[in-house]
Amino acid sequence: MNSDDVIADTDALVIGAGIYGCATAYFLARFGVETIVVDAGDVGAGASGANAGNLHLQLSPFSHANKNPEWIAEFAATLPFFMAALALWNRLEGELDCDIERRCPGGIMVAENEHQVTLLRQKVALERAHGLSVEMVDGAALRRLAPYIAPHVLAASYCPDEGMANALLAVVGLANGARAAGASIMLDAAVKGITPDAAGWCVDTSRGRIRCRRLVIAAGSSSAALAALAGVKLPLAHRVIQMIATEACTPFIDHLVYHAESRLTLKQVANGNVLIGGGWEAARDPVFGKPAVIADSIRSSLAVARTIVPRLAGASVIRTWAGPNIYTPDGRPILGPVRSHPRLFVAVCNTYGFTLGPLCGLLVAEAIAQRPVSYDLVPFALERFTQ
Ligand SMILES: Cc1cc2nc3c(=O)[nH]c(=O)nc-3n(C[C@H](O)[C@H](O)[C@H](O)COP(=O)(O)OP(=O)(O)OC[C@H]3O[C@@H](n4cnc5c(N)ncnc54)[C@H](O)[C@@H]3O)c2cc1C
Repeated sequence: MNSDDVIADTDALVIGAGIYGCATAYFLARFGVETIVVDAGDVGAGASGANAGNLHLQLSPFSHANKNPEWIAEFAATLPFFMAALALWNRLEGELDCDIERRCPGGIMVAENEHQVTLLRQKVALERAHGLSVEMVDGAALRRLAPYIAPHVLAASYCPDEGMANALLAVVGLANGARAAGASIMLDAAVKGITPDAAGWCVDTSRGRIRCRRLVIAAGSSSAALAALAGVKLPLAHRVIQMIATEACTPFIDHLVYHAESRLTLKQVANGNVLIGGGWEAARDPVFGKPAVIADSIRSSLAVARTIVPRLAGASVIRTWAGPNIYTPDGRPILGPVRSHPRLFVAVCNTYGFTLGPLCGLLVAEAIAQRPVSYDLVPFALERFTQ
């Protein structure tokens, strides 16, 4: 390939038009940095178009059940980062030129037995120590707060600041916001090769070669494979998980509902559908390798949801889907410059990637634009795993 094959030359090139890539591009463009985003498919083609849209703050005893106390204590120290992420969502809602259906009615994590009540009490103490507004509510108070919860539920932790947004509208809103601020988004442009050159990086895509000064890998579950093309190892684990949507129902669930010890998140969205998730295992279809639901997981997920919110037994399921999720060893995202590779940046999510996406994009954009970075990037640097 010679220089005539170069289809674009830009200051910043972002790989991935999920929430991380679109948020990074949105802020880069607003900072005046010339930016192109490339995606192998469409905006929101990966996890960002498949997720539940929960804006999480509470720690999950269920998700952390196999972690040691040191891991949990270290992860809990990122709670202020989550609070900053929710504040940014609030700001974005006013900035973006579309309704992303963000609502923060509060989150309820339920306990069905005394052991789970103890887990929640310990969790609330830890969260409060890090400044989170969260409290225990007993059964009677819970029934006043959330009359739709089953009568056998003993207690819950309640965090008034949690909520939700429409994941698809949010990622498309950020992409459109990036375009409006001057960024270009090139779709159906799969990255096949990444090589350093004198000025930065040469990136070969299925639509041609793009040269850039600074390169951002924000490709979700493909990030490790893409980083490997540039000679960088990202320590990511992968799982495919699934979601359920019921038919639209008359509004009756106000909150984001979770469970202390079972896989469950659920909420009722703007048009009345109830979205049920919680990280139930899905698979990849054997022919195309695309995320695919597992029938047993759907049955088990529905059973938990209907036990906690009995009225859901009368709501038909209209859609199920699965998406790829990635996990870092310490549960924190990987953000910022890669020290061993000048002009290479990563914006890679953790399991709560939708919640943290805009803030992570902002920080990476600030680092690239050489502006003061609003949050210390050291705890999120790739080098925490390599030193
Ligand atoms: C079912 C499910 C439910 C979830 N629920 C929640 C939730 O409620 N709250 C929460 O906080 N988080 C949730 N998450 C996690 C969250 O969705 C992700 O962490 C987040 O969306 C990741 O965003 P991303 O931009 O990093 O990756 P993605 O959205 O996966 O985007 C990566 C993009 O890179 C593109 N790409 C890949 N390879 C290439 C290539 N070679 N060339 C060019 N482009 C490429 C893909 O096409 C894709 O568009 C959930 C995840 C799943 C799967």
